[in-house]
Amino acid sequence: MDNRDFNQRNIQSSGRQNGNSPQRRTLTDEERRRIEETRRNAAAFATAHSSRQNSPQSTQQSGQQTKTQAQTKQIETRHRRFKINVGIVIFILLVAVIIFVAVNQINKNKANNLITPPDTETIPVVDTDTPPETEPSDTSSETADTEDTSGTETELQGFHVQKQNTEVDFGNLVLVNYDHKFERADTVELTNVRANRKSNVQVSGIALSLTQQTLDAFDKLSDDLDSIGCPYSLLLNSGYRSSADQQEVWDTYLNQNGQDYVNSYVAVPWYSEHHTGLAADITFFTENYTTMPLSDTEYGTWITDNCDNYGLILRYPENKVEITRIAHEPWHFRYVGITHAKACNHLGMCFEEYTEYVKNHTLDGKILNMKSDYTFEEYTANDLPGTINGWIIYYVPASEGESTDILIPFDEASVDYEISGNNDGGFVVTVSSK
Ligand SMILES: [Zn+2]
Repeated sequence: MDNRDFNQRNIQSSGRQNGNSPQRRTLTDEERRRIEETRRNAAAFATAHSSRQNSPQSTQQSGQQTKTQAQTKQIETRHRRFKINVGIVIFILLVAVIIFVAVNQINKNKANNLITPPDTETIPVVDTDTPPETEPSDTSSETADTEDTSGTETELQGFHVQKQNTEVDFGNLVLVNYDHKFERADTVELTNVRANRKSNVQVSGIALSLTQQTLDAFDKLSDDLDSIGCPYSLLLNSGYRSSADQQEVWDTYLNQNGQDYVNSYVAVPWYSEHHTGLAADITFFTENYTTMPLSDTEYGTWITDNCDNYGLILRYPENKVEITRIAHEPWHFRYVGITHAKACNHLGMCFEEYTEYVKNHTLDGKILNMKSDYTFEEYTANDLPGTINGWIIYYVPASEGESTDILIPFDEASVDYEISGNNDGGFVVTVSSK
């Protein structure tokens, strides 16, 4: 109960005494004294009560209360700060999440735009030059399917040449060696060198014959030897041999030099390169009417170094004996045409190796391009260059039956081509720009 209640009750009490009395009367002195005394007591009580609150004890209590209040305020402040900090962190996290979701959505939209093919444009036209690799998008797989379909169902553009399969052993690129019998040994079309030569080339016998292209090559070689000042004539010691001729050679050398010699140098009949009319054994013929091996003069080295310019290869090189199975013969040259002589030379291959190398280049695999600078590149048929740099070379195996259809995947009007049997199962095709 505080002093306000006390005063109010006193006032009510006095009011009841004054207001509720039916008859007003004048207070007696005694009554006034008591009332006054009661007021003083009330005032004294009020003062005492008030002073008790301001006593040292109460001041100490008040200090403690203030201290407690300060601590409470501190705690409340800390709580408030903590709440503010937590709020800031949550706000930042919320913003980060919103940004992350927004960016994700934008990327998804972009991806969807890429996947969805536009209605009014045809993308595959753009991709024809550079077909997509393995992008797993809808558009690229459609393009790839289209291209695959065209690759398998649409034939390569070009023109076709039919070859009889009997012609597999016909041409400048026939391989004849210890395990490649030459069936045409006795039926090759030949030219007599002595009768038809156009140069100073000499022959060791009246009957010596070669194919016309082979003779042309030796004519040109002889002319060029003259033009560089070679004092010797080019002498053809041996050219074409029939199977009977080869048997005679075999017998002669067997009698003169023994079995080891013929095993190393002389092919058995039907397996000699001399059956083709594409090979000749050459020496120099001096002004003293004597023969001189190529190795005795720098002009011999010049022939070996430059023979590919005439379409000739040194057929049995020293470093390929294990492959050719013929000992090194620095005198035996074989005509294969300039393109393939260059190819053998720049690839560093003997003819056995080259024949096998070309067989690995086909239209359904990779084809070979020897460029004008005699570097090599491979193409699939779909990647063929529009214009041929140098020579395109590939192999077509002979088909079952009597003939083989040979596709040349270029415009017939714009290219030159040669087809030669390889005497090893098929045909070698050589294409160049006109
Ligand atoms: Zn020979």
